[in-house]
Amino acid sequence: MNGKRRELGPDYDLIVVGASFAGLIAARAAAHRGLRVAVIDAKREPGARVRTTGILVKEAVDECDIPAALTRKIPGVRLYAPGGRSMDLSAPGYYFLATDTPAIMRWLARETARAGADLFFGMRFDDATLAEDRVILHGPGLSARYLLGADGAKSRVADVFGLGRNSEFLIGVETEFEETPTVDPDFLHCFIDTALAPGYLGWVVPGVGMTQAGVAVSNGPFGEKRKPDLAAFLKRTDPFFALWNCEVKAKRSGPIPCGGVVSPIATHRVLLTGDAAGLVSPLTAGGIRFAFQYGRRVSAAISSYLQDGGADPGAVMAREYPKFGVKKWMRRAWSLAPANPLIDAALFTPPMRALAQWIYFQKRADASLGRESQNNAPKYFYPKY
Ligand SMILES: Cc1cc2nc3c(=O)[nH]c(=O)nc-3n(C[C@H](O)[C@H](O)[C@H](O)COP(=O)(O)OP(=O)(O)OC[C@H]3O[C@@H](n4cnc5c(N)ncnc54)[C@H](O)[C@@H]3O)c2cc1C
Repeated sequence: MNGKRRELGPDYDLIVVGASFAGLIAARAAAHRGLRVAVIDAKREPGARVRTTGILVKEAVDECDIPAALTRKIPGVRLYAPGGRSMDLSAPGYYFLATDTPAIMRWLARETARAGADLFFGMRFDDATLAEDRVILHGPGLSARYLLGADGAKSRVADVFGLGRNSEFLIGVETEFEETPTVDPDFLHCFIDTALAPGYLGWVVPGVGMTQAGVAVSNGPFGEKRKPDLAAFLKRTDPFFALWNCEVKAKRSGPIPCGGVVSPIATHRVLLTGDAAGLVSPLTAGGIRFAFQYGRRVSAAISSYLQDGGADPGAVMAREYPKFGVKKWMRRAWSLAPANPLIDAALFTPPMRALAQWIYFQKRADASLGRESQNNAPKYFYPKY
């Protein structure tokens, strides 16, 4: 960029802060729509410092076609009660995808650059000013007609512009192990244990070329601090998977917003999306699907606003972002962490089994394939990987 161009007007139509799921999808779509787009991210390269397990629900893949080579299909969920008994859940036509998340980030970054966006890594957003319908970033000296904050659960963009902040979190920790045959690859293995994982779950995932094991907890109902204890979880699950002695390949941890969409999500020329906006299901703690879905929608709204005099994107997205009403209350109820013996007694009753099925699969089964009763779906409905 040269000085002359800056005098003529903003460098970009849109600057996106955050080159992860939400930011890259939004930037790619906006560039395809003809906007001049820049993406900035503090991390040194795409795929660095991944903080997620990276499980994609089927809807996420329907939003953004991901190369199959970077994923592994998992058709079912095996849900373990505290006492060790388990039930298998699945729905015809439905699956989850484990992912090679760093590779997906690199692929998405390439796609975004190919669409015409400029990507700047190692560039942190610290502060900015709004001046005459133009947002000027301090430090990098870039400016744009619109700023999209896709900078995660503890958004600096939200801070700087006085937007809503996430205030309720799960804290997740995860270790990546070498791939092991002890983990049945047809299931996400989810452990309910309110002593080890109060407010959420522990999980073991047959990942892409490795195994992931993690645990997340919420704070108590009155704000009491809780910390996830991954070592205790690994000991607890050792009889099933013997991960304790496997080679550790990576470790990660991070906060997961679980209090629903923040308010306000926008101000003049600035909008939040992804985790920054609180777009994470309070019940399942999944956010990637919403990052994809609303990343695309916000870029459509911003393009319409900048190119065609469309409605203010903040007002549009305030109508469109989900409310998560019932799910927020279910999350708060689960943070009460009912005693393990109670869960052992109740989990295998028909109403609780139906609730578990609803939480994992909701109305997601493909109706055209819905010949089997959901709980009796054949185990190897899909080709094995
Ligand atoms: C342990 C854990 C496991 C999870 N597992 C799953 C799962 O299996 N499936 C699922 O759907 N969801 C999962 N989630 C949630 C999911 O990871 C998030 O919902 C998703 O990553 C949100 O994407 P995002 O693009 O909004 O934000 P993020 O992925 O958090 O990306 C934010 C980006 O902004 C950048 N950034 C931050 N601040 C600045 C700044 N000041 N300047 C410049 N750049 C900045 C960061 O470097 C980062 O690249 C998990 C979360 C955690 C913590």
